[in-house]
Parts: sequence; structure tokens; C-alpha cells
Amino acid sequence: MRLILIGPPGVGKGTQARRLAEHLGIPQVATGDMLRDHVRKKTKLGQKAQSYMNKGQLVPDDVILAMVEVRLREKDAAGGFILDGFPRTVPQGVGLTVILERLDVTLDIIVAISVNQDMILTRLAARRSCARCGAVYNLVINPPKTIGVCDACGATELILREDDRPETIRKRFDVYQEQTFPLLAYYSPTGLLKEVAGDGTVDEIFQNIQAVLPDKPNRS
Ligand code: AMP
Repeated sequence: MRLILIGPPGVGKGTQARRLAEHLGIPQVATGDMLRDHVRKKTKLGQKAQSYMNKGQLVPDDVILAMVEVRLREKDAAGGFILDGFPRTVPQGVGLTVILERLDVTLDIIVAISVNQDMILTRLAARRSCARCGAVYNLVINPPKTIGVCDACGATELILREDDRPETIRKRFDVYQEQTFPLLAYYSPTGLLKEVAGDGTVDEIFQNIQAVLPDKPNRS
């Protein structure tokens, strides 16, 4: 299955993508996680990306497309993948189409998760990330098992991401409306676009997504 998850920041894309990846046995390709990994490791790409990320702006398309193509060529992505947080602009959508043509594969579905802006602002303010491994929690809807302790690695520093601060959240939401939302019109003619309601619990949203997945994904 080759799937894109689209939605505004804080809609729970990452959580749903992780679940779907586990459920379908295919990798989650999350450009935000990949970029944060580069920032943590202080790579050249990370140093370039960091200033855009801290301001809530998008990292340039050419940087993202090159990074994604390398990732999609890795062996574990040969049988399918879940794109989480990519594409984020129409040029990235066009670039992805070209990459998929080069790989001789096609998309199966584009899931757009929708939710109202007030709910997103509340959710994002409650989001915390592990300073060591980057695992993401939400103090209200998806807290760690022990308060203040990362389930994944046991670290005790759960922080509010720089780009989850209220002023940056608003900026990221505006960026979504201006640059990412038009992707829905780009994908609409493909007939692969499915919209699902993003309010409700993590389980409810997961069920909404499962309900629209195709029974038989494309083989190529
Ligand atoms: P995310 O974790 O997906 O919310 O991404 C965090 C930040 O990483 C975004 O606010 C952008 O600065 C950057 N980023 C992640 N994915 C992309 C993308 N596909 N294109 C441009 N910038 C991205």
C-alpha cells in the first residue's frame, strides 16, 4: 500500500501514521521526523533546515524532495510506505509524482484528515516530545504511561517543541492553509483522495481511516 496522509499540524497525523505503519507492515516516512533527526545529528541538511523549522516555515522543496527520494529507494519501502507530512506543497506533489514514475510505482490512496482550528490549537499546546528520541505525546489525548517519562526510551525530559509554541503554531497553521491545502485540489482529479473526520479519539480516527483504505492496493 502506498499512502499519503495529509492534514493540518496537530491533527494527529504522526500518531495515525505510526499505527497504520504497524498495522500494514510498511514504513512510515515522516519528513518532520527525518529533519529533526538531521538537526539532532547536526548534519549539513539539519543546519540548513533548523532555521526554517524554528520559525514554522517550510524547508525548501528541493531539499525535501532529494531527501524523500533517497528514503523511498531504500529496501524497506519497496513494498509500500506511508507518507506523513509530505508532500506539503503543490511543487512537492508534482515532484513526488515524478519520483514515483522513476520508481515505477503508483499511489493507492491519499487520506486527508480534517479538524477545526480551535481544536488543533488546544491539542498542539498539550504536545510534548522526548528530548532524547523524539517520541511524541499529548498530555490530554495520548499521555505517556508514566507522567514525565518517555515510553519509548525511558528519558525524563519531555519538552514542548520549539515549533509547538503558540505563536509558531499559528504560523504553521497559516502555512498549511496557504501551501498545503491546495494539494487537495491537485489530488482531487486522481480519484484517490478520501477525506476523514479528525475529531474524536485516536482509536476513532484510526477506524475512520481504515474504513476508506482500498481492499486491494496496486501491485506495481
Ligand atoms: P512536522 O513534524 O511534520 O510538523 O514538521 C515539522 C517542521 O519540519 C515543519 O514545520 C517544517 O518546517 C519542516 N517540514 C517537515 N516536512 C516538511 C515538508 N514536506 N516540506 C517542508 N518542510 C517540512
